[in-house]
Amino acid sequence: METITPQEAVKLVQEAAVMSHEELTQLQQQRLDKLVSFARQHSVFYREKYGDLPENPKLEDLPPVSKQELTARMEDWITDPEFSLDELEKFIYDIGLLGDLFMGKYSVSTTSGTTGEPLRMLRDSRHVNINGALLQDRLYNSPMLKQIPGILDKNARFASVLATGGHHAALTAFQKRKLALEKEGITNTMLLLSIGEPVSTMVSRLNDFQPQVITGYPSILRVLAGEQQEGRLNINPAVILCSAEQLTDDTRIMIEDRFSCPVGNIFCSTEGGEVSILCNHGRMHLNSDWILVEPIDSEGKPVSPGTMSDAVLVTNLTNAVQPIIRYRVDDCVVLHKEPCKCGLPFPYIDILGRSDDMPSFSNPNGTVRLSPIVFLAAACDITGLSIFQFIQADPQSLTMRVQYLEEGDRISIDQELTQIIEKVLADNGLENVSFSIEEAEPRRAVKGKKMKTYIKDFEA
Ligand SMILES: [Zn+2]
Repeated sequence: METITPQEAVKLVQEAAVMSHEELTQLQQQRLDKLVSFARQHSVFYREKYGDLPENPKLEDLPPVSKQELTARMEDWITDPEFSLDELEKFIYDIGLLGDLFMGKYSVSTTSGTTGEPLRMLRDSRHVNINGALLQDRLYNSPMLKQIPGILDKNARFASVLATGGHHAALTAFQKRKLALEKEGITNTMLLLSIGEPVSTMVSRLNDFQPQVITGYPSILRVLAGEQQEGRLNINPAVILCSAEQLTDDTRIMIEDRFSCPVGNIFCSTEGGEVSILCNHGRMHLNSDWILVEPIDSEGKPVSPGTMSDAVLVTNLTNAVQPIIRYRVDDCVVLHKEPCKCGLPFPYIDILGRSDDMPSFSNPNGTVRLSPIVFLAAACDITGLSIFQFIQADPQSLTMRVQYLEEGDRISIDQELTQIIEKVLADNGLENVSFSIEEAEPRRAVKGKKMKTYIKDFEA
C-alpha cells in the first residue's frame, strides 16, 4: 500500500474533520476496499478467509476474526514476505531493542492480557504517521490543549507512568520520542516511572523532576492525585493525559481538581492505534476516518446506537503489514451517533471497559492506596496461568484466584506468584499484608459488565 508522509497524514486528518456524514462514509469505504484488496493479495490468512467473497465486499459481509486464530498463524497473517516469526521473537526478547525498528521498518508492540496468548503487533510507517497526525491534530491541537503554552515544545518536561518490562505500545512510543530527542541533543526531558515502583518513590522522583506533562493510566493518576492532596506530592503540571483504561467522570474531575489543570484522554489499543480522543465537550470521539468500530452483542449481531455492546469489531485502516479487519475485542461500549457541539463529524463512544476496584491496605502508618494495574502487571509476567482475579476481603489480606494452563507446573507458578506479589506489597511498606493463592473460578460479573480483575469486598 502507498506510503503516507507525516505531512500528508496531517492534511488527510484535517480534511476528514470537516467532512459531511456522506463524505466520511464514502471515504471509509474507499479505504476499506484498499485494505481488503491488499490483504487478499499479500496475506495468506485473509486470502483463505475471503476466498468466496466478491471483489469489493461490504464491511458487514467480511467474516470477523479472533485474536486466537490470527496469532496461531502469524506468518500467514503478516503481509511482508520477508517476515520471520523466529526473528520477531528474538527481537522482542531483547529489551535493549525497545524503540528500534524491526526489519529496519516496523515498530513493534506487544500486549500481555489477563487471559490467553500475548499479541505481537507490527506497525508500518503508514500506521505510525497517521496515528501521529491524529494525536497532533485532534489531541495537542484541540481547543482544550492548544492554549497551553509549551505543550508541543521539544523541551517540555514529560513524565510517563507506564508498564515496563516488555514492548508495550506506550513504552515503545515513549522510548522512540526519547531517542529522537536525544539525537537532537535534548536530554533529561523525559522521565519514565514504572507502575511497579513504590508510590513513595514515584512521588519523590516527580517532585524532583517537576513535569509539565504527565501521561499514564487513570487509576495511577488517581493515586497520585491523592498524594498531591495529602501534600507529599507537590507538582504543577500544565496538562495530564490519560490513556489505556476507562476514565470515569469522577476520576477525571478528581485529577483535574487536585492538580488544577486540564485532563485529556485518549483510548488507544495495540490493535487499533489511537481509537478515540476526548473533545472539549467531554466526549470520546472515534477517529472513524481511520478506525472502524462496530458494537456487537454476545452472538455477534450488531447493536443499535445508544445500547451497550458485549464486544466490538475493530478495523484499522492505517496498518497494512498486519491487517486488523473486523477483529473482535471484548470491550463494552455505547456508540452515539447524534452530533456533538464540538462540531467533529465522528461518532462518540462511552467505553465501559474494565472498571476494577481500587486496592486499599492498612499498615502501622495508616492507609496505603495503590492502582490495581500494579498487581495486574506483576501477575501478567507469570506464564502458566489461564485466568486470574484478585480479591481483597479486608485491608490486611489479599487473595488471588487462579486457573492454570494444562502444562503449567503449579508449585513453581505459585512460588513465583507469591514472590512477585509479596515484593509489590513490600515495596509499598505492606509487609504486614498476607497473600494467598487459591485454585478457583473467578467471580463473574453481572450481565453487561466485564469481569473485574481486582475486587475489593469492603468500603475504604
Ligand atoms: Zn465533541
